[in-house]
Amino acid sequence: MLLDTKTTLAYYVLTSLTLAVLLLVAFRGRFTPSLRLWLACLGSQALGWFFISLQDLPFPWLTTGAGPVMVSLSYSFLIYAVMTFYGCKARRHWPLWPVPLSIAAVVVWHNDASLRQMAINLIFAIQLSSGAVFIISRRDPHRGLRWLMGTSALVACVLLFIRVLYLAEHRDSIPGLLQPSLFQSLTFSIGFVLRLVFTVGFLLLIEVHRYDELTWLAARDSLTGVYNRRTFIELAEAELARSARYKLPVALLLIDLDHFKQINDTHGHQAGDLVLKQFPEVAERCMRSHDFLGRYGGEEFCVLAPDTDAEGAATLAERLRQGLAEHTLQLPDGRSVHVSASIGVACRRGDGNTSLDELLSAADSALYRAKDGGRNRVVVDGPA
Ligand code: GH3
Ligand code: MG
Ligand code: MG
Repeated sequence: MLLDTKTTLAYYVLTSLTLAVLLLVAFRGRFTPSLRLWLACLGSQALGWFFISLQDLPFPWLTTGAGPVMVSLSYSFLIYAVMTFYGCKARRHWPLWPVPLSIAAVVVWHNDASLRQMAINLIFAIQLSSGAVFIISRRDPHRGLRWLMGTSALVACVLLFIRVLYLAEHRDSIPGLLQPSLFQSLTFSIGFVLRLVFTVGFLLLIEVHRYDELTWLAARDSLTGVYNRRTFIELAEAELARSARYKLPVALLLIDLDHFKQINDTHGHQAGDLVLKQFPEVAERCMRSHDFLGRYGGEEFCVLAPDTDAEGAATLAERLRQGLAEHTLQLPDGRSVHVSASIGVACRRGDGNTSLDELLSAADSALYRAKDGGRNRVVVDGPA
């Protein structure tokens, strides 16, 4: 079945416009620069394909000139949108370079349809392949979605190259764009599907990134970036269950910064915040990769160390205490601050069945003893 090219092009225009309207309505009031660029991409694409579809009207400068240039511009916007989304800057505005090239191609070969179309198709292919390579080479957890989008752009490039070869082969008798042919039908329908995949894929990418961001924020303490109390407890419960199943020991550390009120009083609340922000950096240098840190509240932190017995936990706590004691925090005004911590440690043996609440209260009483004993020290509650 051969498709009527004009109808197909009308669908190109309609889908671009529909997606643009959907975008405008869905993201009203929370437009980001990359969404604005995507909107510009959809708008210029709709306009470009609309101009190209006016083949049977006497406006050659629109159909063979402005049309392809607008489509080329839309691909530039597309690359910009994806780059902006990933926070990358385009050096010397390279995504825009193909636009003057396509203007040159339509001007230079305005009398040679075959060479003009070959040049334009090549420019489109280069634009789409650079977009595809960019998106495929990103690093985020959404590999499947990125590959789907990248591959769809690469398939479009292959189609464009085949088109160039076809045009080269039929240089003297290239069929008009509106003349139905199997090749035309095939390329336009595949192109239609690929455009949908890329556009919907980009919107999904934005949404899954937003979801990741929200999930991250919900699990973290906003000042220090470590797990908040709720998430720490959830993860600790899960870890205790896992340790019980495999009969592994587990340790819990409660860390309280010493005389923190004094730091606030002497250096100001902002300096206190800075100390809290730096604590995870110091702590994580002393921890193993599967130990995890949470903010228990105020200037109190907690660490859960899986597969760690009392001796290992004491070593970890001592490393932490010493690491912090030796750390000098530089304030923006040039002053330096030293802070120490008292640490209470509680452990559960591999064959033990202590609950998280019991571990927390054991660590808390060990911490109380550390404070009582003069601060800047570690007290291990011993195997519970
Ligand atoms: P101790 O050695 O006995 O633990 O003394 P401390 O001063 O650290 O303990 P105290 O409980 O008396 O005071 C805790 C202080 O921590 C008081 C509170 O203002 C401060 N604090 C709690 N959360 C924050 C925060 O998010 N930012 C800042 N800057 N200070 C905080
Ligand atoms: Mg405290
Ligand atoms: Mg304190």
